[in-house]
Amino acid sequence: MRARAERGRGERVQPGVYRLRLPLPFPGVPHCNAWAVRGAGGLILFDTGMYAERSLAELERALAMCGLALSEVRLIVCTHAHLDHCGAAGAIIEATGCEMLMHERHEHLRRMLADPQALLDRQLEVARQSGVPESALRRYAEQRRAERFDVFPVPEPDRPLREGTEIETDLGAFVTYETPGHAPSHVCLHQPEHRLLISGDHVLGRVSLYFDYGYTPDPVGEYLSSLDRVQALDARLCLAGHGRTFSDVGAHIRASRELVHERLAALQAAIADEALSAYEIVPRIYGQGLSELNAHWLLSKVLCYLAHLQQLGAIEQVGSDPDRWRARAGGGPLAEP
Ligand SMILES: [Zn+2]
Ligand SMILES: [Zn+2]
Repeated sequence: MRARAERGRGERVQPGVYRLRLPLPFPGVPHCNAWAVRGAGGLILFDTGMYAERSLAELERALAMCGLALSEVRLIVCTHAHLDHCGAAGAIIEATGCEMLMHERHEHLRRMLADPQALLDRQLEVARQSGVPESALRRYAEQRRAERFDVFPVPEPDRPLREGTEIETDLGAFVTYETPGHAPSHVCLHQPEHRLLISGDHVLGRVSLYFDYGYTPDPVGEYLSSLDRVQALDARLCLAGHGRTFSDVGAHIRASRELVHERLAALQAAIADEALSAYEIVPRIYGQGLSELNAHWLLSKVLCYLAHLQQLGAIEQVGSDPDRWRARAGGGPLAEP
């Protein structure tokens, strides 16, 4: 299925802050945001959108709707190393000569860009180990091989983005907070005087969870800690990686945390009396089986939930080939959030 061609659109959020809504080639997620903030004698872009043949034209269109120009961009700050947030960085740097900052744990992006086939092979092996039948693996592999996304090399950041790194803007400094979980490289940026939070994919207006599997031992645990950190900032307005701005930031953070606990409880209940593979667990949590479209997304999440429950000692692995899991006797239900 091909997504309807979306166009880049721009709007002013408040003086000196602009939302650039940029098209994505995914049917379920048609656009992402880059946020332009005045500073450094020009513009600072928080995230870039994904690269495609027309991505710079769409970015320029969005900027022009705000009375801004690409040539004003002095600095790119990436919330995390997913291609919808940093994919156009290389092309923008080539066009403007600007600098780029990103957290240094972006190995997950490097691996994908360096060898997409090796990454797909590894995902297929994880899926096989998780009990996905061979016929479904073949269909998934075919579908993935047929996908064609333009990729523009994402350069190494000029400087690393670390806990406490301050990004000076005309509104005052945005302070960097490391918020791993969704991705190992994820950061949020907070402007304390205006109480603005640039949240990437950590907190979204329409609560939606995703965790990169296979890079850290417990992405779900990291994500929950990152929610606590961001909640303590008491932001007034959230500028998220997808969707509109929203002001009830605390409520969105609570809803994200509750959804994690809901999923964990559903998973524990599913394996209370019988050992199941991750593939068998998916429909019991999400009410749908794996398809080529959702396979990687849903399986990664279930594997991350399993890893978290295992860390807590609430479940144990009882079989391999495929890996099967069962709630531990005496593991007890998880505490409510
Ligand atoms: Zn992301
Ligand atoms: Zn995203």
